[in-house]
Amino acid sequence: MSGNLHERAFELVAKARVEGGLADAEREWLSTHCEDCAFCSEHARQMDRALRSLRAAAIPLPADLASRTQFRVRLRAMELREREPKRRMLWLACSASWVFGIASAPFVWRVFEWFGKLTGAPKLVLEIGFGLWWTIPALFAVMVLLLEAARHPGEPDWMKPGR
Ligand SMILES: [Zn+2]
Repeated sequence: MSGNLHERAFELVAKARVEGGLADAEREWLSTHCEDCAFCSEHARQMDRALRSLRAAAIPLPADLASRTQFRVRLRAMELREREPKRRMLWLACSASWVFGIASAPFVWRVFEWFGKLTGAPKLVLEIGFGLWWTIPALFAVMVLLLEAARHPGEPDWMKPGR
């Protein structure tokens, strides 16, 4: 068989798949050729297989994309759920320290008084120091919140594609 015949067979195989149809004479010629020619019939089979997998591959892509988006949303929800109790813990610790502060106030004031007697610091300084003692839990809470805000800047960063 000459090379031209195989070439023609290849062209007809492509035409049948891509352009979608052969004339009766062309189809007949091709099937006759493929019966005799293992090379061209194998080529036709491979062409079919490639086209099938191409069509099959076109379907999982959007499905995968959808599941990936869902995964990201789920991950985000989990993140939020995880962060919520932490914040509750923070407020709990904060109010606990405030309660402790109130309960310990007389003792703390006595310590400041003792410190004043020891160092001869003016009463105003002691009072300011005592006042500052009360703001320590608040300062601590603000610091933690600021640190957390710094760690999670610009909320919808997770929405950006390709991360
Ligand atoms: Zn051939």
